Amino acid sequence: MKPTQSLIMFFLLPVLMIIIPALILGGLALTLAREKALESHRIQSADLATLVEMANFERRLGGLHESLVQALDESRDNQLSKLDRYSEYSYIDQQLDEIGERIEHLSTSGLIDDLHADNAETLLLSFQEYRRFIDMANEAATLNQNNVGDFLQEAEANFNRFIIFTQRTFEALTERANQRHQQSFHSLSQSIATLVLLGVGLLSILAIAAVFASWRINRRLVTVGDAILALSNTRQELPEFADIQRLSQRRDGQLKRIASALLSFRKTEQQRREAEFKVHRLAYYDTLTQLPNWRLMKEHLQHSIDSNQQTNTFGALIYLDVDDFKRINDSCGHPAGDSLLQDISRRLSALDMDGTTLGRVGGDEFVLIADGLSSDELKAADKAEVVAERIQRSFSEPYMFNDKAHSLSVSIGVTLFNGTGENVDSLFQYSNAAANLAKLSSPNGLRFYDPAVQAELEAKTELERDLRLAIEQQQFVLVYQTQVDSTGKAVGAEALIRWQHPQLGFVSPGTFIPLAEETGLIVPIGQWVLEAACDQLVAWADDETTAHLTLAVNVSAKQFQQPDFVDSVRCALAKSGALPHLLKLELTESTVIGNVDDTIARMHQLKALGITFAMDDFGTGYSSLQYLKRLPLDQIKIDQSFVRDLHQNPDDMAIVQTIIAMGHALGLNVIAEGVETQAHWRYLNDHQCHAYQGYYFCKPVPAIEMVQRSLEPPPMPA
Ligand code: C2E
Ligand code: CA
Ligand code: CA
Repeated sequence: MKPTQSLIMFFLLPVLMIIIPALILGGLALTLAREKALESHRIQSADLATLVEMANFERRLGGLHESLVQALDESRDNQLSKLDRYSEYSYIDQQLDEIGERIEHLSTSGLIDDLHADNAETLLLSFQEYRRFIDMANEAATLNQNNVGDFLQEAEANFNRFIIFTQRTFEALTERANQRHQQSFHSLSQSIATLVLLGVGLLSILAIAAVFASWRINRRLVTVGDAILALSNTRQELPEFADIQRLSQRRDGQLKRIASALLSFRKTEQQRREAEFKVHRLAYYDTLTQLPNWRLMKEHLQHSIDSNQQTNTFGALIYLDVDDFKRINDSCGHPAGDSLLQDISRRLSALDMDGTTLGRVGGDEFVLIADGLSSDELKAADKAEVVAERIQRSFSEPYMFNDKAHSLSVSIGVTLFNGTGENVDSLFQYSNAAANLAKLSSPNGLRFYDPAVQAELEAKTELERDLRLAIEQQQFVLVYQTQVDSTGKAVGAEALIRWQHPQLGFVSPGTFIPLAEETGLIVPIGQWVLEAACDQLVAWADDETTAHLTLAVNVSAKQFQQPDFVDSVRCALAKSGALPHLLKLELTESTVIGNVDDTIARMHQLKALGITFAMDDFGTGYSSLQYLKRLPLDQIKIDQSFVRDLHQNPDDMAIVQTIIAMGHALGLNVIAEGVETQAHWRYLNDHQCHAYQGYYFCKPVPAIEMVQRSLEPPPMPA
């Protein structure tokens, strides 16, 4: 059977369950009723025949009796010849035989038997009596005896008795036939009523069974339908399908096949949903903290912008940038950094602030969207500030990692929005810029977005674009600032980069170097500086008045940490032919922090080439002594901030003296930068500083100018 056929049967079953038995029952009932009717008809016909016969032979016997009496009379009067009388009598005798037979036959009829068994016998006996006397009368007549009349009388008496009896019997029979007819009719209608009752009962049972079967089929179909609906509803979780499991455990049938198909479909759907869930999690959630990532946060922000516009309220985008996270990550290792980020995310989530959504949008950057703060901008700003301060307080509890307690702080930038023209990307940009500014001003800073920040940001973006172009188009030049010894004689110079911007003119390195460091552009720029400085050394080497000059080159942390940095220096030296011992690399403490061992190893490799090292901006960083001992340095450079106010600030004096003493103790050359006045020079000289650099001797100028200045007599010594 095809599946469609069996499914049709499935639906037809309840209908067939009623129709087929109903047809069979109807047929049986009709046959039974017909048989009953036929039986009744047969009895009635037989009864009627009995009655007709009764009437018949009474009439015939009457006729015969009359003929006999006449024949006997005629024979007595000798009107009949012997032969005639004999033939007459033979005829009568024959007729009587016939009637006798009929009476005998009648006596066996059901009707008479039903009336009373004796009746048949009585009828037969009275006829036989009558016949006996007739025979006797006939015999007497034949013998011409005188007693014919007596016998005839006797016969007549019997005849009358017989007739009376037959009449009574006839009446009784008629009555009885009538009763039997009624009985048969009654029995027939009773049979029909019983049949109808039985049929109705049976059909009711069948109808109940059919309703039950329909209900069961319906229930299974509903189960199947519900399962299909559940499978098609992607928003609802997939149910267990326990009913479908039960259906699939049936021995056979279409429902088993459908249930098995649904179960396998459910399995596939489950796997698909799990895969989709994983993809969704990967796409929208941060794997480390399980917080929404920037993509999901952007969607949340869009939603928030829309809803704030509808409710005419202000929301806030709060951008969090963990202070100094990079240093921790570098110094304690990435696993510690990861666990710290998880701790931070747990703390932030635990704040559980109503109407806010938290996400992680970058390495150490988190974002919080606060919805519907207030319809008044100032009040909304107040509320956002409260939220931001709560976040900052949550950071103040020390964090434990690597078995030590570390304090952290966070810089926060806040942008308010109310859905009037803002877009997601710019809001992110503004808050980020505000957080960066907050960080610049002080750790644990909080700053609201300001349109000026935006202008700054745009200028920065533009500058970055120009910087890339500057590298391509070689818009950089080097200027040189002499470094002198205690007698004021030039012993070398520091190479300082200048950017000749086609529109802006000279751009200060203080503006573009941090940007170059941030964007990584410092690597190609630093490489260019290195090569240009080497070329300058080679140019100086040709002239004996300048051949002794050393050249200090600033190297950024990012540049120094490039894996091929040592090779690139070696290459620059080899390509130019510059003498390595005249090249001095100026590092800052940020180069060393986090990678002390690696930095030391790298410095040793470079020192092996003959290169020397100076520690720039010395005194501005931290933990100086710890690594100072270990680093293969040649020189430390006292930061200009300590020199600037040397005479006004006793602290600066103490620092300068300490640095010089430390340099002496460690056998390091000490140079002071930012020497602007004779007084600076004198003070430093008095305290045995070894070398000097500053406007007092020479501003950063092109190489030719610097050399000319260095050939001039030194300024007034201290
Ligand atoms: P720095 O290495 O500390 O350079 C010294 C800065 O102090 C220079 O500023 C210089 O012009 C200035 N200066 C020198 N003498 C005096 C003085 O007597 N008084 C005052 N007020 N300032 C003085 P500049 O050239 O603007 O450079 C700023 C910073 O830019 C440098 O600080 C350095 O960190 C960075 N930089 C400059 N050139 C390069 C470079 O080629 N590569 C890298 N990586 N950084 C560079
Ligand atoms: Ca420097
Ligand atoms: Ca410096």
